[in-house]
Amino acid sequence: MDIRLNQLTMQFEEMTAVDRMTTTINNGELVSLLGPSGCGKSTTLMLLSGLYKPTSGEIFFGDKNVTRLDAEKRKIGMVFQNYALYPHLSVLKNIMFPLRMQKVPKKEARERAIEMAALVRIDHLLKRKPAQLSGGQQQRVAIARALVKKPKLLLLDEPLSNLDARLRLEMREEIRRIQQEVGITAVFVTHDQEEALSISDRVMLMNAGSIQQDSTPQQMYKKPVNEFVASFLGNPPINLMTVERMEARQYKLENSAQMVLLPERLNHERVRVGVRPEDLYLTDKDSGLLSGKVLHIETIGRDTMIRLKIGNTSVRALVDPKHQLQTGDICTLGADRDNIHYFDCDTGERVN
Ligand code: ATP
Repeated sequence: MDIRLNQLTMQFEEMTAVDRMTTTINNGELVSLLGPSGCGKSTTLMLLSGLYKPTSGEIFFGDKNVTRLDAEKRKIGMVFQNYALYPHLSVLKNIMFPLRMQKVPKKEARERAIEMAALVRIDHLLKRKPAQLSGGQQQRVAIARALVKKPKLLLLDEPLSNLDARLRLEMREEIRRIQQEVGITAVFVTHDQEEALSISDRVMLMNAGSIQQDSTPQQMYKKPVNEFVASFLGNPPINLMTVERMEARQYKLENSAQMVLLPERLNHERVRVGVRPEDLYLTDKDSGLLSGKVLHIETIGRDTMIRLKIGNTSVRALVDPKHQLQTGDICTLGADRDNIHYFDCDTGERVN
């Protein structure tokens, strides 16, 4: 079932938590809502669930306008950060619970619950109580319980936040597997970029209530539509600097005499240039983008991170450790044309 949002807006008095959000989530897709704290992710999820009703705008499930439809009539499964299991009930009874509420006969409810438990791989734990399970196992129970009614849409609100790093990785792969096996449309809220980029068909990056970019993870990383997206994604963060045109491809760093040689002449007199640390490489003086003195060197896994002083700012680059660099060396960094991003100085919008 496709989900369509049309100019969806949620106002809490003065605060616009969700601002004219328009998008379509395709049938069977897993879409992440990503963004900084307070950007409106949870509010969007609450609007999809029907627990909140929007100030204006519409929500369609398939052809049906559900904007004013109550939560229990929307055929939605929800998974929360804190699992929200019933502590006094066994795993089996927790999973059966939504069906029993719907008056599904006990035998059928039991069969369907066992089937779900097998899908999420906890069928060996059916008799346990939630307190006797690990965090990852509890989250599996919560997912089984959310899916047992065969909902049309699965909503996941930071489901991995309470798990340690290793379990987070395991459970994010599991969520993706289960979602694909069931073929259900899913919306996944997270503030963790790595989680969003790795699990999703599509990511919606939000800021201050509105979608900044709605695209595949690769597209968002490779072609950020504005400076906010460019700087939100990536760790270590993208290098950003303002340059002013001197002549042809020669630019200079703002408030400095430092030269920057761009691979092309732009129409802009001033522009913000962004390059990710991993897209910079050491090169010879004539073919480089910029030169500077090495301020700092550290080893990160199989790469070496260097920080260069460029004019009155500094630039980070991840370089091959085969270069025997030392602090104080002068070196030149280059980048491929496709990996250099330009943004308008005033609006922050991408210009290339
Ligand atoms: P987080 O990652 O911190 O959970 P979020 O992106 O999910 O943040 P929301 O919880 O959707 O953000 O909140 C968006 C904005 O709306 C915030 O400024 C928040 O303070 C405000 N807000 C959310 N719920 C309410 C409410 N019930 N009443 C008033 N303001 C609210």
